[in-house]
Amino acid sequence: METHRPSRRAFLRGQLLYRPVAVIGDTCLAEAGIECRSCGDACPELAIHFRPRIGLPPQTFVKVAVCTGCGECVGACPGDTITLGRAYRGDAS
Ligand code: SF4
Ligand code: SF4
Repeated sequence: METHRPSRRAFLRGQLLYRPVAVIGDTCLAEAGIECRSCGDACPELAIHFRPRIGLPPQTFVKVAVCTGCGECVGACPGDTITLGRAYRGDAS
């Protein structure tokens, strides 16, 4: 099967446009009603926050503008639900 590789220019442009960022998956233990903040404890940038909500443990979310994509949270997650995705440079959420 033929595969298409990006041109060097497109590759470099992609490197400039995107950067790695932590993504919290659907199987976060908080969604199953289990209190967990392991990722927040592991994050050296304090990029992971927990939004209070009624009836469930706080919802876990990543401040994309602060996350460096270091991956420390990935291994710390007992639910194995954090992955490194891509964010546009300049994302400020
Ligand atoms: S990838 Fe690194 S900086 Fe980003 S949320 Fe995880 S531990 Fe924090
Ligand atoms: S460590 Fe994993 S399971 Fe625990 S709060 Fe973070 S994303 Fe959810």
